[in-house]
Amino acid sequence: MIGLLELLLIVLIILLVFGTSRLSRAAETTKAAIRVGKRRFWVTNPVTGEKELTLMTAEKELALGQRNDAEVRQKWGLYEDSRLRQYVQEIGLRVARASEQAKLSWHFSIVDDSAVNAFAAPGGYIYITRGLLAYLGTEAELAGVLAHEVGHVNARHMAKRYTREHGAQAGLWLVRVFWPAARTLSGWADKGLDMLFLRYGRDAELEADRLALGYMAKCGWDPAGLPDALTTLGRLGDAHGENNIPWLSTHPSSPDRVAALENLITRLKTQQTDTGRDSYRHYIEGLSFGAGPSSRIGFYVVRDGDSWEAITKDVGHGKADPRILAILNGYPTAKQPRAGEEIKVVLTTSTMVQ
Ligand SMILES: [Zn+2]
Repeated sequence: MIGLLELLLIVLIILLVFGTSRLSRAAETTKAAIRVGKRRFWVTNPVTGEKELTLMTAEKELALGQRNDAEVRQKWGLYEDSRLRQYVQEIGLRVARASEQAKLSWHFSIVDDSAVNAFAAPGGYIYITRGLLAYLGTEAELAGVLAHEVGHVNARHMAKRYTREHGAQAGLWLVRVFWPAARTLSGWADKGLDMLFLRYGRDAELEADRLALGYMAKCGWDPAGLPDALTTLGRLGDAHGENNIPWLSTHPSSPDRVAALENLITRLKTQQTDTGRDSYRHYIEGLSFGAGPSSRIGFYVVRDGDSWEAITKDVGHGKADPRILAILNGYPTAKQPRAGEEIKVVLTTSTMVQ
């Protein structure tokens, strides 16, 4: 017979042999989980180089980006002009490769929408509408708008917002568990495409602007392209009302940002002044304008005594707004065009050379 003491001794030996190995296995598993968690949720911000907690992991970012991309294509469709598409992609990639995340798989697409807008989805998907392309005057302006969006991605603005909102949601969930009266509070809804059109806030916008200037200067484009594009958008807001210009409804007022940018540009002391005006105009010739394919962007040489109003009547059969014609050409609405200058005009089907 085994005595009580021996029995205890055997139990102790079994515990020591099997128990501790199991315990150490559990500890290993926990450690591994912490290591993976640290890698996934504790990420380095490419812009600041600082570690930050995120609920939008790289996998989540890519999955959301792919889903948003499919939704954008389905909702608006992409603008099918392969020459212009390649050009926008090429400019976008040049900017992105000069940025902190040169190796990310970036995508640049033209949305077939007359609304004036540009936006980014997680994972490096950047969009510009054909409506905004029409109003830009140079390659440097295009590079500026795309660089601003690349800046948002690199500074992880959407990921930060997602983390804040999901973190708050988790907090709200806990509150609801312990405080039933709070259950009627609205919960996190899957925002879908709406999440692409949220305001990031003034600081984030200024950060994206500042980053954009750096990318542009590195590539050799005139950084003034960005404030120039913002000035045009501000004029459009004045003519149409800010709420009718989607870009303006998600971005702080333009004069404010233009002033901040001009200040930064003087400090950049860049020698680069390449605006790429001619190549940009070459690519947007024939671009659909407004609601349908019956109006397209063309060019016209201003004659002595021409006014925006007269040109609108002669070339566009009075269908366009003279103020819009001025803004399309980077002019304040009160200033008339210079004789001899080749300006952008909106050609309607009847005025187009077949
Ligand atoms: Zn922005």
